[in-house]
Amino acid sequence: MMILLKNCRLIPELTEGYEGLVADVLIDAKKIRQIAEPGTIEAEADVQVIDIEGNTLLPGFFDLHAHLYLSSFDFQSLNERSAADTGFDVYGYARDYLKAGYTTIRDCGCSHNATVALERARKKGIVNVPRVISTGLILTPTENGNSTFKALYKVVDTPEEVRKAAREQFELGNDAIKYMVTGAYFNESGDPGAVIAMEDEVREAVKVAAMKKSYVIAHTHSAEGIKLAIRAGVYTVEHCSFIDDEAIAMLKDNDNCFMVATGAIGLDSLDEDNELISADSLDKSKKYEAMERQSVNKAYQAGLKIGFGSDIDWGAFVKHPGYEFIARTEWYDFDYKDILLQATKYSAEIAKLDDQLGTIKEGKNAELVVVEGNPDEDIYVMKKLPKYVFYNGEIIEN
Ligand SMILES: [Zn+2]
Repeated sequence: MMILLKNCRLIPELTEGYEGLVADVLIDAKKIRQIAEPGTIEAEADVQVIDIEGNTLLPGFFDLHAHLYLSSFDFQSLNERSAADTGFDVYGYARDYLKAGYTTIRDCGCSHNATVALERARKKGIVNVPRVISTGLILTPTENGNSTFKALYKVVDTPEEVRKAAREQFELGNDAIKYMVTGAYFNESGDPGAVIAMEDEVREAVKVAAMKKSYVIAHTHSAEGIKLAIRAGVYTVEHCSFIDDEAIAMLKDNDNCFMVATGAIGLDSLDEDNELISADSLDKSKKYEAMERQSVNKAYQAGLKIGFGSDIDWGAFVKHPGYEFIARTEWYDFDYKDILLQATKYSAEIAKLDDQLGTIKEGKNAELVVVEGNPDEDIYVMKKLPKYVFYNGEIIEN
């Protein structure tokens, strides 16, 4: 199957090997075959032609911090959900991600190992969903508020327990290890400012991951937690809500550790109309809002390559198309073009998939998104679902 996309508007920072701002792009189910001046590619009889009409062509998006099992903020019911129910939720949410233009998801914690099953089904061709990088159960010390997410956690309190638990997650088919290094907003009575893990424990997870040629993803809000995680050798520090100058300096020019911000969850956790957000969690969100916005903006101003994560539930994802794109301007005051780079090129590099993904280039995967309007000039066009998504031979038209 060949498809010729005519009159695509390109963003130079997201395009490689082609200088023009408008192009015709020839793709098949797997790869981008040719990028050329408009009107210069002869469409043979069996080629499907789609006029993109000057709308913007983008590479498929990444969410480096997703939770596909998180169908809602009803954490109690999530803890009780069966493996089969979780499997269907994970599939449904993944399809909605694809419709929204996401073709790669790094899942940062899932019950019943459902994302591993989803990825297996995808590879067999049973389902067409974004590729998923899985972490399975999240390693966490014994801590206040763990019961909020008890189906999601594996409790570990010594390096030996960490070693075994990390090995188990890999045995189950997971790709990386997720570790709670600080407290969290949504964990009842948990404190996002508190460090909860010991450095030797986190380092043990890093050692096990290294044997698997993989890495550790650290949940970190406080600056002390971020620094502990970096010293222990983790590969990504998530959220970084209260990052300080010292932690920014540790990340700057460090090719082995990256910050993944999660703007949408910050914005969403302030939603007073959502009765599923507890008073405890809403209080924390209000208390820390200004500090989080300033800290993350400071990391951005320092020039860090920041990954694209959202951390939101399925309901919020569907209710607010483009949520993470909007959160990054409204909450963190990032430049529109940088937001697009974070969602594509930078996250592809952080996920170590940039040889095939993240930019529009001949020979790279034909995972493409058509957005109506110019998101580099007005990020709010992302509030509308993309006009087309091309992925693995499927054309999704919204
Ligand atoms: Zn998360």
